[in-house]
Amino acid sequence: MTPFAHTAGSYLAAELAAKLMPYAGINEPTVLLTAVIAGNLPDLDMFFVKGGSLKHRNTITHTPIFWIIFCSLFIIISTFINHYIFINAFAFTIGVFTHLFLDWFAARGDGVGGIRLLYPWSKKHYGFHKLKKLPNYVVKNFKFSKYLFTYYWKDGLLFYSEILVILAGMGLFIANVPEYVKYFLK
Ligand SMILES: [Zn+2]
Repeated sequence: MTPFAHTAGSYLAAELAAKLMPYAGINEPTVLLTAVIAGNLPDLDMFFVKGGSLKHRNTITHTPIFWIIFCSLFIIISTFINHYIFINAFAFTIGVFTHLFLDWFAARGDGVGGIRLLYPWSKKHYGFHKLKKLPNYVVKNFKFSKYLFTYYWKDGLLFYSEILVILAGMGLFIANVPEYVKYFLK
């Protein structure tokens, strides 16, 4: 999914957690921001992996095992510090796992989604749809180009669910703006 969908998706997931646990403090804007930043973090591998954005899901930042270890340590350490850090660690966990879920769900083909669910035991990429080999014209022109986008919105279900996530996230954010303003003016 695109960074817009990851931003909206992690925001929605954190807001949902806030609704389910109203007294935990997840609905504080700074905590929500932690979830949103974490919701984009796994894609940073794009900048250091050989092969750029096409190959970026081949690193540990797109494996559940890495984040299970990282987040467990983060949460355990945070319990020794204070509740605010703990709730941020929790929001962080929501963010990264929402990212993995969305990448799993929106997988179109090798390199355009799919995460290595069973790494390090298997390097296979998994997705909601069976992953197909990418057409050559997409591989050759992978950078954000009209070729990629033509391919991207060929899958109606995935395309419209991505649009839905973005719109829902934007809508909820706009509805909550007065509350956020109140928080910062407090
Ligand atoms: Zn990703």
